[in-house]
Amino acid sequence: MKHSYPDKYRRTRASALDMSSADFREIGHDLVEQIAGYYESLSARKLTLAKSRPEITELIGAGGLPEQGADASELMQDIAPLLFDNSLHNGHPRFLGYISASAAPLGALADFLAAAVNANVAKWDLSPVASEIETQTIRWIAELIRYPENCGGILVSGGNAANFHGFVAARQAMTDWDIRRDGLYGDPRQLTAYVSKETHTWIDKAAEICGLGANAVRWIDTDSEQRIDLSALRRQIDKDRHDGFLPFIVVGTSGTIGTGAIDPIRDMAAFCREQGIWFHVDGAYGAPAACLDDAPEDLRALALADSVAVDPHKWLHNPIEVACILTRNPHALRDAFDFRPSYYHFADESSSGIDYYQHGLQNSRGFRALKVWLGLRQAGREGYRASIGEDIALARLLFESLDVHPDFETRSHKLSITTFRYVPRDLQDRADAIDDYLNELNEALLVDVQASGRAFISNAMVGDQYLLRACVVNFRTTAFDIEEVVRIVADSGRSLDRRMRAKYLAA
Ligand SMILES: *Cc1c(COP(=O)(O)O)cnc(C)c1O
Repeated sequence: MKHSYPDKYRRTRASALDMSSADFREIGHDLVEQIAGYYESLSARKLTLAKSRPEITELIGAGGLPEQGADASELMQDIAPLLFDNSLHNGHPRFLGYISASAAPLGALADFLAAAVNANVAKWDLSPVASEIETQTIRWIAELIRYPENCGGILVSGGNAANFHGFVAARQAMTDWDIRRDGLYGDPRQLTAYVSKETHTWIDKAAEICGLGANAVRWIDTDSEQRIDLSALRRQIDKDRHDGFLPFIVVGTSGTIGTGAIDPIRDMAAFCREQGIWFHVDGAYGAPAACLDDAPEDLRALALADSVAVDPHKWLHNPIEVACILTRNPHALRDAFDFRPSYYHFADESSSGIDYYQHGLQNSRGFRALKVWLGLRQAGREGYRASIGEDIALARLLFESLDVHPDFETRSHKLSITTFRYVPRDLQDRADAIDDYLNELNEALLVDVQASGRAFISNAMVGDQYLLRACVVNFRTTAFDIEEVVRIVADSGRSLDRRMRAKYLAA
């Protein structure tokens, strides 16, 4: 075939995607200006927007794939305000919903830089410095939560993915047949997993995707503090062994999604060791609090777990997405995920550097470690201790303020989560008898407060009760914001009760 490349492009190309450095500087500086303005404006913004889906889709335009390209500068001019004005601002000081954290500005710059360098942290040779930074980041996270520093680990997209990696590592380690070759068909016994009823939904996905099926998950009852009932756990495992099942993993949670409860980690670890079962801890939310001097005793016991999931995009304030799975056996992830021939297996990664694609699900991998690493350097252990400690103190302040308020019933304060409900003062004597009404009222209250855009809280179901829930993983929240939240929620409760009571309650 005759070569017909136009001669004028021998040393240059008119790429639709490239950008001159002058343009990059101008567009980039302008974007940084706009983002700085966004940060400054956060506390004055409404948290949520009362726009409907059609209004949002109209804003972004309903057209098909553009045939012609567009000017990068104009695109960026338009897009930044569109995002600022139409997002739910989880960096707002009164965002206390779910366990979704405000993100550190340095993390935004780190993601920007990581994308520019575009390291592919799959193989060490493709990303020498990024691979080493990931390795050090994993060790630092382990140090922060008092986990053995010579552990294995990898950064993944989120808490679900981190827990999932722990689950697969457990499955590999706890089966004595070649499960990677023969799958679940290598043994007649069915693998079973044990979790408390407060466990996050990742466990269902893991059991389903790994082919165990949702029925393989045994949901163990909890005590009045939402901690797993150890004797019920023991009974279930005894029964399952007797019935020919193969218990392989017990999951503890350090900081449940509902109320922030911490399972009895130390006792669970001892029990699992005695039983020869893998002990995994879901510390997606709570694990970083292990760095506190006065950390709850069971958080200090994380080192006893075979694997721990941590979510730096929660309490370490890195921008979404990043989570980390740690395993006490440094080879556990590689045993489950590598694809080298077996004679390669024990190549010494400590001298050749780690090829992270051998330790997890992904092949090409982004440089997630940079934002975590820079955050750990910016704040240091001391900075994180202060920030996490203050979040917990603010959640306690909220609990105490609601406790003395005549129209609230407080339920729990654990880690940085406070649960409560609105119970009008004149109904408190018969609160138990009117649970249905109080559930309706508090649900309406949640919707009303969220829609107001003045504060954002979420809910938890405890037993049959609909509770309101505030979770402080937000370095922008102050004591003043907590007072404001109490006022906003009380005002909303009062006016809703006035409107709803007649309909639900006979006089
Ligand atoms: C948030 C959370 C998860 C899920 O983490 P993602 O990052 O949202 O995937 C799992 N378990 C617990 C306890 C959590 O708090």
